[in-house]
Amino acid sequence: MRDSLARRVLIVASVLAAPLVALIFLFVADVRVRWLSVAVALLAVVLAWLLAQYVAHRINQLTTFVEGMLDQSQPRPQLIHSEDELGELARSLSRMTPRIAELVNRLSMELTRREAVLASMTDAVLAVDAQLTVTFCNHSFIRAVGDHGTAEGVPLIRVVRDPGLFSVLKHVVDSGEPARRRLQLSASEGHSFEVNAAPLANSTSRGAIAILRDVTPQEHLERIKRDFIANVSHEFRTPLATIRGYAETLLDGGLEDHENRRKFVEIIQANGTRLNNIAADLLTLSELDAGQPGPEPGPIPVGDAVWSALHAVEPAARLRGLSLHAEPIPEVSILGYGIRFEQALLNLLDNAVKFNRENGEVRVEVHSRPGGLVEISVSDTGVGIPALDLSRIFERFYRVDKARSRQVGGTGLGLSIVKHAIEQMNGAIAVESALGKGSRFIITLPEFISR
Ligand code: ADP
Repeated sequence: MRDSLARRVLIVASVLAAPLVALIFLFVADVRVRWLSVAVALLAVVLAWLLAQYVAHRINQLTTFVEGMLDQSQPRPQLIHSEDELGELARSLSRMTPRIAELVNRLSMELTRREAVLASMTDAVLAVDAQLTVTFCNHSFIRAVGDHGTAEGVPLIRVVRDPGLFSVLKHVVDSGEPARRRLQLSASEGHSFEVNAAPLANSTSRGAIAILRDVTPQEHLERIKRDFIANVSHEFRTPLATIRGYAETLLDGGLEDHENRRKFVEIIQANGTRLNNIAADLLTLSELDAGQPGPEPGPIPVGDAVWSALHAVEPAARLRGLSLHAEPIPEVSILGYGIRFEQALLNLLDNAVKFNRENGEVRVEVHSRPGGLVEISVSDTGVGIPALDLSRIFERFYRVDKARSRQVGGTGLGLSIVKHAIEQMNGAIAVESALGKGSRFIITLPEFISR
């Protein structure tokens, strides 16, 4: 028999009854009284044992009931609701059960919801205890540190080998103050993270929680913006300085210099035009950045757009002795924005004229391609583009030969406008070039098919 209530009651009852029976045997000579006392004593011990068994059984029932309160899936035992103290306890437990069940339900729902939120967060979340052991982390954190094992229960320094994150969390745990820092985690290949850490304290211990936001794209954008502003100021500075210089020369006696004054004014005019071109291209780029020019792209007859662009570059081509060719253009229309498409064609044709050799050729070809696409190519017989520069010519302000580009009135923005405009119309642009022989720019756009 295990150390139960019934066993203890049996021992206590036996210990109490035995001396009484012994005394009766010592002082009472009557045999019947003696055996009667033995029988009464045995009966008392048995009754006490049975009562103890009954109480123990009811306590066991209550224990099973209480243990089952948190596990909603198991059936609960039926409690005996007698009028004694145990019955009162059973009634009170029965009353509490639905409330506890509701609380458990609410808690587990809250936990599931919280886990789902944390798991779907793009920000990395990490919690550590006072010893800087990971107590919780989400998928984004595991991805950021590039570890595919379990991080929970592992010291932070073994999960993230960067001292940066470790020192932020140590500072927060030690000081109890929140901290914010920008860090690079070596495991995430140069990605930058904005770390916001706060103390996480309960009554017994103190830990910290950190949220790591990947700010790499933001930093990249900031860098592009900075470079762009630097480029724009640089592009404006040179013509402005030239205009100012020649204006001062004219005022300092140049106006009387009959031989050169016309040349000075022409230089001022050329630089004024250059400033104007840069401003116009910047405006176009900012319009492209702002989004689509109209509510819906519409049909554009390719032939009309090509002829209109060819007419626009004809005077410049004639000046350089270039011949312009357009192969018979099929009757196709593309789906896009008219002004943007014409601007793109004009920029390509302008470059084909500008970077061509004297008496060279410029050719436009239009073909329908499988998959509902139209291919428009502009080729020239000019200087060509070195293979190394091919991938960069669509960048803003990128020029292969800066001096030549400026000399022919280039802004360095033409091709970035073309690429931006074509991509906005769900198209693509590619380039092929052979140094000293010429270049070919190929635009592919979705064909407009009327129903
Ligand atoms: P730009 O205003 O200087 O023409 P673009 O963005 O239109 O600027 O072109 C960028 C650079 O690409 C040019 O400076 C030039 O070096 C090169 N490029 C563009 N088109 C041609 C071409 N058809 N032939 C040779 N080089 C070209």
